[in-house]
Amino acid sequence: MIRRAVYPGSFDPPTEGHLNIIRRGLALFDELVVAVATNTSKNTIFTPEERAALLKSLFPKEKKIRIDYFHGLLVDYVREKKASVILRGIRTMSDYEYEFQMALANKSMAPELETVFMMTEGRYSHISSSIIKEIMRFGGKGKDMIPPLVETALRKKLNS
Ligand code: ADP
Repeated sequence: MIRRAVYPGSFDPPTEGHLNIIRRGLALFDELVVAVATNTSKNTIFTPEERAALLKSLFPKEKKIRIDYFHGLLVDYVREKKASVILRGIRTMSDYEYEFQMALANKSMAPELETVFMMTEGRYSHISSSIIKEIMRFGGKGKDMIPPLVETALRKKLNS
């Protein structure tokens, strides 16, 4: 049986923290579906198509990764993809509280699915999409926080 996991998120934009979770996830699962949320309540700067395109260009040759979109209930999407695991990352205690609630809610709706959490590696713990947008908006650099092609796309977006 194929071990397929879904890694859902806003990825607005994808960061080195996200990439680290994806790379480590690949070691655990046969297939990883990176699912861009289209109905997030967050105010996004990139469209879902742009976010998916960035993710695709970061992993051009990786056969175990699928980039996709989801809207509506995550558990419905995960079932539809015939995956058994939801992969999420944790940086801080505040992530933990939110993730814990979501995992419990998902478990009560879909007991057959497991949420697997990966702790951030220390050097990524301060990285979030919103912090990066804030830094770049005020003229800072995204070095070590986002890949160069994401930095270029973000700079272009902020200047447009
Ligand atoms: P969402 O809006 O679903 O929280 P995000 O794109 O902000 O989407 O994050 C997707 C997932 O990646 C979440 O589980 C989040 O905790 C995790 N994540 C984000 N940044 C990091 C990081 N620097 N290290 C580890 N996990 C991270």
